[in-house]
Amino acid sequence: MPRSLPYADMDKMISLSKRRGFIFQSSEIYGGLGSTYDYGPLGVELKRNVKEAWWRSVVRQRDDVVGLDSAILMHPKIWEASGHVENFSDPLVECRSCNRRYRSDQLETEKCPECGGEFTEPRRFNLMFHTFMGPVEDTSHEVFLRPETAQGIFVNFPNVVNSTRKKLPFGIAQIGKAFRNEITPGNFTFRTREFEQMEVEFFVKPGTDEEWLQKWVDARFNWYVSLGIRRDNLRLRRHEGDELAHYAKDTYDIEYRFPWGWGELEGIADRTDFDLGRHAEASGEDLTYFDEETRERYIPYVIEPSGGVDRATLAFWLDSFDEEPDGDATRTVLHLHRVLAPVTVAVLPLSRNERLTPTARSVYEQLRYHLNSQYDDAQSIGRRYRRQDEIGTPYCVTVDFDSIEDHQVTVRDRDSMHQDRVAITDLVGILQDKVEHGW
Ligand code: ATP
Repeated sequence: MPRSLPYADMDKMISLSKRRGFIFQSSEIYGGLGSTYDYGPLGVELKRNVKEAWWRSVVRQRDDVVGLDSAILMHPKIWEASGHVENFSDPLVECRSCNRRYRSDQLETEKCPECGGEFTEPRRFNLMFHTFMGPVEDTSHEVFLRPETAQGIFVNFPNVVNSTRKKLPFGIAQIGKAFRNEITPGNFTFRTREFEQMEVEFFVKPGTDEEWLQKWVDARFNWYVSLGIRRDNLRLRRHEGDELAHYAKDTYDIEYRFPWGWGELEGIADRTDFDLGRHAEASGEDLTYFDEETRERYIPYVIEPSGGVDRATLAFWLDSFDEEPDGDATRTVLHLHRVLAPVTVAVLPLSRNERLTPTARSVYEQLRYHLNSQYDDAQSIGRRYRRQDEIGTPYCVTVDFDSIEDHQVTVRDRDSMHQDRVAITDLVGILQDKVEHGW
């Protein structure tokens, strides 16, 4: 549907977020904790729906990917073998006058932007959070909070192959928290120190990796489009040779046009046999795969689509925002895809008249077992439609005085504002069909 705005106004979104309960500053009553956020009642539903849609698309609807949920705390040797202890760092500089710290590769000037002071020489700052396992706090008990979910997948490769008897090519998918002690977090939930990732490690025969990289790039790009992000606000960017990570042979980023500029939503990398090779060497375990067709034994190559749950949620949310002229007023509406919207259907009795309540409550009771539903009888019906538009509810069901006699209700579509009269007995089926097929 054509929208009037190329992208959302961040100030309006942050105010909507707080007012309606999408995202809150974490620890707010104590003044907040830098760059950490909590998802409120609507935000948590939106984020869950994003994760569900991803899981459906990469696990349930394919027969070549299985799921995993590995622990956040892992053996510290994993992070040595993966290269994170040595390489997972950003260049940090500190202003000699005001002591502010910056990532030097993100600075556009050679002087401190805050006070014009001189910087120290850059030093490598490792982004991994660490803590201690058990009551003794010394380096032999040090463990890391994982900075990516990927390594939990690599070290479970033999477990998954042996327990599922999957044949190449196949993948393992995981959604979970990751932690990075970012030097300069910011732009709301775009860059935080605690976030969630959704990653697939897709294992292929060496030599077929380039073809599989293209397939995954297409599949992942189309996923964002199919769930409503406007194509104009998405782009694919291939990494230049000097930008590639130490493990990657080739990488594409899917970027979204955020209000502050283009930013990465997901990277799709050809990681070759780097990770399994390193873990085989460091653990002494055999991580090769026996290819029954060719009777060969080899370490598979890996294609990794690695996305951020919080960034995807933010992009879907921002991209859906619009302010449409509506008579003399303006209608604020989130055109969220129907499977992502935090509330799928709102049941609205025409008024609080007690004759309407039993029918309206019984419609609500029926719907809530099948669809995420909300009951709202406060204020005028017009205002209630606006309140649902503002949080992106795709369907409203209105119960009026005729409903008591004819057992029919009105279904209103958020985007077209078209209204249909349907029998209460058919309502669940009709709404489920709309959610699935979107008519
Ligand atoms: P960036 O260049 O923005 O720091 P990255 O290239 O380091 O990101 P990856 O290591 O490829 O990111 O991580 C995969 C995905 O995890 C990213 O595409 C992003 O969606 C998400 N992600 C990474 N770091 C953060 C963060 N600090 N906050 C929120 N999401 C993040």
